[in-house]
Amino acid sequence: MSIKKKNSPFKGVVIITLVITFALIALVVLNSKESNSSNDLSFEKQPPIEGQPILGDVNAPVTVVEFGDFKCPACKSWGETIFPQLINDYIESGEVKFAYINVLFHGEESKTGSLAAESVLKQAPQAYWEFHKELFDHQPSRADHDNLWLTNEKVIEVASQFPEIDVNQLKENLEKETEIAELEKDTRLVNEYQVQLTPSIMVNGTMLEDPFDYEKINSLIEKELEGK
Ligand code: CA
Repeated sequence: MSIKKKNSPFKGVVIITLVITFALIALVVLNSKESNSSNDLSFEKQPPIEGQPILGDVNAPVTVVEFGDFKCPACKSWGETIFPQLINDYIESGEVKFAYINVLFHGEESKTGSLAAESVLKQAPQAYWEFHKELFDHQPSRADHDNLWLTNEKVIEVASQFPEIDVNQLKENLEKETEIAELEKDTRLVNEYQVQLTPSIMVNGTMLEDPFDYEKINSLIEKELEGK
């Protein structure tokens, strides 16, 4: 008993020191894990997509939203590399629906492309996604993308390839900026979701730090599907 009594304060100190050390190590490990894992932004609710162009089954359990700009080269490149994989892996199977929201970071040309796209969505929704793709296909290569190209004339030229689109109606809509309210609605969402760059990609309520990280998009979708 006396020996035990004599040792116990020392033992206690050792145990407390060990506990504190382990707690500190655990904290450091957890913290570094958190900061390594991602800087993705989480929002309490996902962006509302009513009135936006939607590709896929409207009842799909997971929603991927792109905040994009027809004038933006990275959006063109996202559309050519990541989007087809997403369509193939999740949209065609009905697990994901995809919506596109206009961002007007490039001034007049962004506005022209967005007004045209919103107008096509209204008058010929069945042609929307093909028109959307054609518009991006007409974006010049990176070296020239800063030059003026996204004009009313270009939009009409692209639209003329589609028998479903009433080109005269589109011309009139562009001149009168008929769909300006849709652009304002999109801009409110851009502000609400703190979009800083295009494309910005959201999987349900999570905005990816790197929109080109398809593995991450994949794992977020799978996680959301598991939760259903
Ligand atoms: Ca819109």
